[in-house]
Amino acid sequence: MSTTSNASELEGYLGLHAAKRVLRGIFARKDSVHAVMFYGEEGSGKSGLSNLLARFWLCLEPGPEGPCGACKACAAQERGSNPDLLRIRPVGSSAWIRLHKIHPVNPMPEDEEPTVPIQEFLRTMPLRSKHKVVVMEQAHRMTADASHALLKSLEEPETYAKFVLTTDQISQVRPTIRSRCLLVPCELPDEREWLERNALAEDWELRLAARSPGRLQMIRENPEPFAEIYRIASELPSLPPGAALAVSDRFKRAVEQVQKHDESSVRSAGTLALRILGTALRSIGYSPAATQAVSAAHTRIQGNAQGGYAYDALFVRLLADNRGRAG
Ligand SMILES: [Zn+2]
Repeated sequence: MSTTSNASELEGYLGLHAAKRVLRGIFARKDSVHAVMFYGEEGSGKSGLSNLLARFWLCLEPGPEGPCGACKACAAQERGSNPDLLRIRPVGSSAWIRLHKIHPVNPMPEDEEPTVPIQEFLRTMPLRSKHKVVVMEQAHRMTADASHALLKSLEEPETYAKFVLTTDQISQVRPTIRSRCLLVPCELPDEREWLERNALAEDWELRLAARSPGRLQMIRENPEPFAEIYRIASELPSLPPGAALAVSDRFKRAVEQVQKHDESSVRSAGTLALRILGTALRSIGYSPAATQAVSAAHTRIQGNAQGGYAYDALFVRLLADNRGRAG
């Protein structure tokens, strides 16, 4: 996305009326805040808005419409190499944001994605930007001690320090963290806006996206596994219990395709695929018990369960219901 026409960049997002109002306020310097938390559904636009706000805070000559797109800070940002921006997200098999991302610990644990701890990053002034900006994705994945350490930075920030946090599960973010951020809701677009914008989309795409622009984009970038998940969901009501393991294998192959495309972990590809399956089952009016079983499998996979067994158990459970139906 171009950074030169920022008014249209902000207005280009579908829906998000409250968030746009807040950002316009910050751009106009009506609000002086140092920490913002964007929260809302997966794919609603949180990461796009958080990047826009980060660029605004980094920009040396920001205007009422956002970052200028032309200064040294904006140029560095465009190249993806601004030393005054620190990104933190959950990584690794645990998918937690642990203490060493916030506060130096000795010895530093091995990490898939080595980063400077936030507190070390904020110790020095910005090099080429107006502020130093920390962007944290999925803030609800902070461990208790990481949250506690971040709280200190949020409570007594350096004048040049800014924080942008995002989460799709705000109830799981510790209240002490929430209370120190400006909370900005990112809601999904309403039905009318959604259908107007996506008049040409296919029915199955719209059903799986469930009004989430980010999800629709993700599906279109890699449609095959998602189409397969939708087919699985559509076929489930008519399959006999004996087909459970074969269906589970099809689902696992779809998970592999998601994982390969996103270069994500097996676990995050699996939880994504299960959320899509849950949406598909709801959209075709499958029983609420089935969607609950999908959520339970989601929780198990997110915890620590071996994917293979969790999927097998799920489809055995889903198809067991068909015995009564067929009889
Ligand atoms: Zn700029």
